[in-house]
Amino acid sequence: MTRPIVPQNVDDNELKEKILPEVYQWALGNGLLMYPPDFKLNTANIAPFTLYPTPISRGSFEEALDVQKGFNELYAEISRDSGKNGAWLTRETEKLSESDADFTGKLWKLYKSVRDEGILQKLRLGVFRSDYLVDKNLDQIKQVEFNTVSVSFAGFSTKVGEIHKYLNDFGVYGAACYDDKDIPVPTSVPEITQSFADALKKYDSIEKNPVILMVVQRGERNVFDQRALEYALMKEHGIKVVRMTFDEITEKLSIDEDNKRRLSIKSTNEEVAIVYYRTGYTTSDYETDKDWEARKFLERSYAIKAPDLLIQLSGAKKIQQLLTDNQILSKFIENTTTREKLSKTFVKIFPLDDSELGKIGKDLAMNNPEKYVLKPQREGGGNNIYKEDIPSYLKSLDESEWNAYILMEIIVPEPYTKNIIFRGDDFFRESIISELGIYGTILFDEEKTYFNRNSGWLLRSKFTTSNEGGVAAGFGCLDSVVLY
Ligand code: ADP
Ligand code: MG
Repeated sequence: MTRPIVPQNVDDNELKEKILPEVYQWALGNGLLMYPPDFKLNTANIAPFTLYPTPISRGSFEEALDVQKGFNELYAEISRDSGKNGAWLTRETEKLSESDADFTGKLWKLYKSVRDEGILQKLRLGVFRSDYLVDKNLDQIKQVEFNTVSVSFAGFSTKVGEIHKYLNDFGVYGAACYDDKDIPVPTSVPEITQSFADALKKYDSIEKNPVILMVVQRGERNVFDQRALEYALMKEHGIKVVRMTFDEITEKLSIDEDNKRRLSIKSTNEEVAIVYYRTGYTTSDYETDKDWEARKFLERSYAIKAPDLLIQLSGAKKIQQLLTDNQILSKFIENTTTREKLSKTFVKIFPLDDSELGKIGKDLAMNNPEKYVLKPQREGGGNNIYKEDIPSYLKSLDESEWNAYILMEIIVPEPYTKNIIFRGDDFFRESIISELGIYGTILFDEEKTYFNRNSGWLLRSKFTTSNEGGVAAGFGCLDSVVLY
């Protein structure tokens, strides 16, 4: 089928008079909202999103869904890190800790101290998201990154799918209306919450109604996305989610040292079955040593961590680069067909070290950077260096620090789509590029995988004028798919 055209004929009048009230009121009524900076509790803004869904080919969409379980198992297997893989993650992380002492180094040190004391909870929960752009020449999905910690927008993904469906059903799209089967509503909320509920059932609590602890950033503005998961957990599964920042952890929680280090809330005695991190993935989340202590407090507890330190570390961009080596990938994925499917989504990624490949990487970075993006071991958007900015950036560093970066081929996505984007009080008619994210959940221990699932999807778009697509960081907007 040919790519559907996103309508361009809505005039400003119709948009302001008819469409804006529909859109704003749906968003306010259903919590498609974000707090502004310096917010008051009772005042929120509408999260940025597109008026129309964006065309994604059925083939690309299905391929991205199809590889997710393979990726879940891959990252679970890497973070198992037992003798059978020669403690590969341990070795690689130790090396990386030398060049990225500030963050990888600290996470690693923390992990070692927890490991040396003995980790009592064997169950581990991965809530992952694999992000793709569709390469325009190959018409092939290519992986941007694999996220293993604090993946966001699952809540909003479902809501944006719902508003697009509502606008379609209500006739706002007029003659451009879509067939229901072409605009599937992302199942992220029901599926991720189902996995939390199933993981919680596997936890052997001694208290009757164990809870989930969501550890959040101070002054979090993306509350309503998180709340969508919390409300669904309560409504569909009767599971309570308690929110805390690192500041509150040691004050409000206690660990029963004599009973497996079970974690509970002091004031209510509620037992915490799962610690779900929506913070702790970037240096600025740890402002003081007290924050690192809070992380350690949680990690040594008996609660199931989503994710624990090793799962988080397996998501390093350096690990993503190493996995593009088929020999390394084979260590973790024996099945050739699965391996080929995963590799097909990779672009070339170079290290910047003293290896043969590293030398090629360094030469490209300094002399031919136009087709590359340079990435540090950081998460959360706004950290990458693009194209011709790369050489001068690298020159500003000591060469011993280059190790902490990877050089990745830039994926050139499908022809840009013009859409209408609502943001703040305004709307924009802009060309956008869309990034498809597939959620996956996996519960495992050293020996066994208890479940491995696809858990919904997300489409995020960014203005073509921006290199990055972070919605919370202000570069992008939420979107949903129209399949063709
Ligand atoms: P972060 O961990 O900060 O989210 P990402 O690797 O996801 O880092 O990069 C941030 C954004 O930069 C992506 O969402 C994408 O828009 C853009 N980007 C990253 N890598 C590439 C690439 N190889 N080709 C094109 N764009 C990219
Ligand atoms: Mg990203």
